Amino acid sequence: MKTTNFIRPHLKSLKPYEPIDPIEVLAERAGIAPEKVIKLDGNENPYGCSPRVQRALGKSNSLHIYPDPLNREIRQVLEGYTGFGSEYLAAGSGSDELIDNLLRITLEPGDRIINCPPTFGMYPFSTHVCGGETITVPRKPDYSIDVPAIESAIDARTKVIFITSPNNPTGNLAAENDIIRILKTGLLVIVDEAYYEFAGESMAPLVRSHSNLAVLRTFSKWAGLAGLRVGYGIMPPEIVEIIYRMKMPYNITIAAQIAVRETFADMDYMQGTIKAIIAERERLFAKLKAQGIVDPIPSRSNFILCRVLKGTAREMKLFRYPPTPEHDPHQRGQAGTHRCGD
Ligand code: PMP
Repeated sequence: MKTTNFIRPHLKSLKPYEPIDPIEVLAERAGIAPEKVIKLDGNENPYGCSPRVQRALGKSNSLHIYPDPLNREIRQVLEGYTGFGSEYLAAGSGSDELIDNLLRITLEPGDRIINCPPTFGMYPFSTHVCGGETITVPRKPDYSIDVPAIESAIDARTKVIFITSPNNPTGNLAAENDIIRILKTGLLVIVDEAYYEFAGESMAPLVRSHSNLAVLRTFSKWAGLAGLRVGYGIMPPEIVEIIYRMKMPYNITIAAQIAVRETFADMDYMQGTIKAIIAERERLFAKLKAQGIVDPIPSRSNFILCRVLKGTAREMKLFRYPPTPEHDPHQRGQAGTHRCGD
């Protein structure tokens, strides 16, 4: 028997998720030194993580021990940050894992999700892996979600609706009224708030009154921990409970657990980083707009989507990077005395 005969048929047509290549690979491809690469494609944090994280990881003496399968410490520190009790909180190896877990607990083969592109590519990918299908309801020209079109796309096989807010790559927030209307469908609504800290607006309070809402967040962006893989969801306790029954037992590493602890112990520093990124976003937006080569779209996130109006990338004037000292709170000493990497 051929090996491929063992493979589930729907996986034979699976297109791999297009992951982001590491800096060394990008540098080699471009024929430049790795230090010359300014990496923007993963929306990571250019300031890195809290210096406390790096110091604590170096000192840890518990890396030989399996981590807590119930992620108790992370969920407990998240209680203070989110205002939700642990029973509403699930942690994942990045919010990617929670997307996958939520689909694995909801989709039977042939079930459907609604996806509103342009948006994050993981939702259709994980759906395909789970044997589901993706129904596409494009965003409107202003990139807001098309609620009537979402409603009419629903059929008996639709189980999940994904809304990203702020959206990747367009940077705009979903309107609360739109989310409330979509929640009335009774389907599981997953609001992905990976970039919440750069917008400051959240749908999480609606979780208390809606049994079909899951809000996902991550430490990859604001906390600079993309390499350690840790995200979380705020969702009804019944969903949290099933996730803790079906997930991989040791999904959050000890290193990630330490990193979360130290991040929250250094919130003044982290708030400074978030403020610096927001200030840079606005500075860059104005500079891009003034050049007239691209049309930047206002963003509530840590990136800016631009429509190309004319010319080529080479005509763009370069901007100073890292940002000027007046945009860097850590250089101004406002938010702690250590820079990441100290
Ligand atoms: N959701 C969105 C909208 C994202 O842009 C990303 C990362 N690019 C993720 C989720 C995944 O985040 P994590 O690193 O927590 O898996």
